[in-house]
Amino acid sequence: MRRESRKGLKVVYGTNRELTTVQCCVCKKFVAMRFDKDDLARHLYGGVLIRDCMPYLSGGEREILLTATCPDCWALLCVDPVLHPLAYS
Ligand SMILES: [Zn+2]
Repeated sequence: MRRESRKGLKVVYGTNRELTTVQCCVCKKFVAMRFDKDDLARHLYGGVLIRDCMPYLSGGEREILLTATCPDCWALLCVDPVLHPLAYS
């Protein structure tokens, strides 16, 4: 994983990944994923961008951590305007 040097400390992201489930707030479906809870704390309390501290997760997996919305519901709620140019007209 990516290493970061900060005040002489080396951080290796994703070292203690644990299986965790997060429930979608829209469809109530549970999504299972493995991530390091220390990486989530680095994002929430350390000011590290989530894409930098959890590069091993997909964009959809990171989104459910940020907004509690699963990738399927996110695709319905926020349609990609490039793939579907007529969705907002
Ligand atoms: Zn959902």
